[in-house]
Amino acid sequence: MKTIRSNKYRRRRRRSDRGRLFLALAIIGGAVILAAAAVIICLILFLPKNSAEETTKPTPSVIEEAVTSETDTSSQSATDAMAKINPNAATAETTGKLSYQSLYPEMYVPIVKKIPAKDGAKVVYLTFDDGPSSLTEELLDVLDKNNVKATFFVTCQGNVTNDTYRLLKEIADRGHVIGIHTFSHNYTEIYASVEAFLTDFSKMNDVIYEATGEKPTIFRFAGGSYNSYNKKTYEAIIAEMDRRGYTYFDWNVDSGDSNDNATEKSIYDTTVNSILGNNKSVVLMHNSGSKEKTLNQVASIIKKLKKEGYHFDVLDPSVKPFSLAYPE
Ligand code: ZN
Repeated sequence: MKTIRSNKYRRRRRRSDRGRLFLALAIIGGAVILAAAAVIICLILFLPKNSAEETTKPTPSVIEEAVTSETDTSSQSATDAMAKINPNAATAETTGKLSYQSLYPEMYVPIVKKIPAKDGAKVVYLTFDDGPSSLTEELLDVLDKNNVKATFFVTCQGNVTNDTYRLLKEIADRGHVIGIHTFSHNYTEIYASVEAFLTDFSKMNDVIYEATGEKPTIFRFAGGSYNSYNKKTYEAIIAEMDRRGYTYFDWNVDSGDSNDNATEKSIYDTTVNSILGNNKSVVLMHNSGSKEKTLNQVASIIKKLKKEGYHFDVLDPSVKPFSLAYPE
């Protein structure tokens, strides 16, 4: 009797042990499934989007965030930070088809939607190439006196001096916009290849950043986006700069001040007469040390155009550019 009873008792105990084991396994299994679901939901909600969304304007704080990321020891986290402002920064690492895409991983800016000028805008963008120079401060005074802000596409002609830094800072401090022109201004050198162009661009980018604490998002090709030096390379260079988010501006009004036979009268007449026919003008002028004639005419040009109902503005990446390489 005793043995039968104790056998029954053991069987019952074994059965209840198995029940407990199944219950424990079910609880653990359920918990694992719930945790996995939570992780998946978090990933969906918080992972950065990879689509190349266009922002309307680059905010300095976003660019600043990416700039500070350069100090990160891990190049992957620097790339990740850049990818937040321009998703193409990440694809360069993974596709790797064009080796120059992985050069200068810090050189990305937001891709900005271009907005055409409204009808009747009567807007003029004065742009000055080839400065800073011995004539820059005087030009800044003229612009201040006439309450006009302009855009400076700067170069240091391959030679950085203390004046370069001082004048670049002065231009920025007085509220004007700085875009990159070129470091060397040597057409043969910069248009030899995409790599050569990026190297030159990066040098000027660094000089401007050191002088002003800001990195430009716009630029002007030396000689314009299509010229006799870049026929073999302009398409690839433009595609690469587009990919990195940089906006280039050619012009639709040429003051003619780079012609050897330009006079003060020809600069004034050419500029004013061309602008008077336009709703929007991006005006090419120069601010190298030899362009005194231009400097002497800026005030008269501004006064005349103001009288005709035009207003002046600075370029930014949202302004729809004129392009010599791809005219509309
Ligand atoms: Zn130039």
